[in-house]
Amino acid sequence: MEKILISACLVGDKTKYDGHSNYNPLIKDLLELYELVPFCPEVEGGLKIPRDPSEIKGDKVVSSKGRDVTRFFNEGAEKALNICKYLDIKLAILKEASPSCGSSEIYDGSFSNHKIKGEGITTALLRKNGIKVINESEIESLLKKEEN
Ligand code: SF4
Repeated sequence: MEKILISACLVGDKTKYDGHSNYNPLIKDLLELYELVPFCPEVEGGLKIPRDPSEIKGDKVVSSKGRDVTRFFNEGAEKALNICKYLDIKLAILKEASPSCGSSEIYDGSFSNHKIKGEGITTALLRKNGIKVINESEIESLLKKEEN
């Protein structure tokens, strides 16, 4: 079975900054076709649950209280890449808009709930290393592709 790295919060782990998950009901269908490897870059990078929300601002990641948390995000991204290399993972499904996991949009750094085009720290590193990253809105089309 092909392995896919997946944001831990999408499989129901309560790893979000506010202590909740982003459980996606299509996970059970994915599990019939793939071996899912849940991973949360922020928690693995050393941040706690719950934690202050963070956004990418220029070349840094800052918390809503103004703390520079870039090193935790970089650490989580490196660990995600190591797991992909170790398990020969070529595809990741990551939660859209997160400063770690976003794949086409992120929050703009002003903490005003405004999104811009961009990608999270983990997504950028995985893509730089040839790993395809999609988000949860693309799970359905991935499943359909497998049906055909
Ligand atoms: S860092 Fe990624 S996996 Fe972790 S809670 Fe945020 S979106 Fe989910």
